[in-house]
Amino acid sequence: MLKLAMAGGERTFMTGYCVKCKTKDQEMKDVEVVQTKKGGWMGKGKCTVCGCGMCKMMSKDQADQAKEELTK
Ligand SMILES: [Zn+2]
Repeated sequence: MLKLAMAGGERTFMTGYCVKCKTKDQEMKDVEVVQTKKGGWMGKGKCTVCGCGMCKMMSKDQADQAKEELTK
């Protein structure tokens, strides 16, 4: 449904919690994988519905996987 409206190669493989939509497993676009100061990993992106910033804590494995997705 929503995916169809997103031409232009926006990536939506990651989901997180959107505080604005109050939706779990909301799809994220413009995803970036960043390392936190404490050495953890985080996915940062925007809600595909309302466009507000979202982030998701990840394990190293998940981060590696996500980075792989981003380079595809
Ligand atoms: Zn949202």
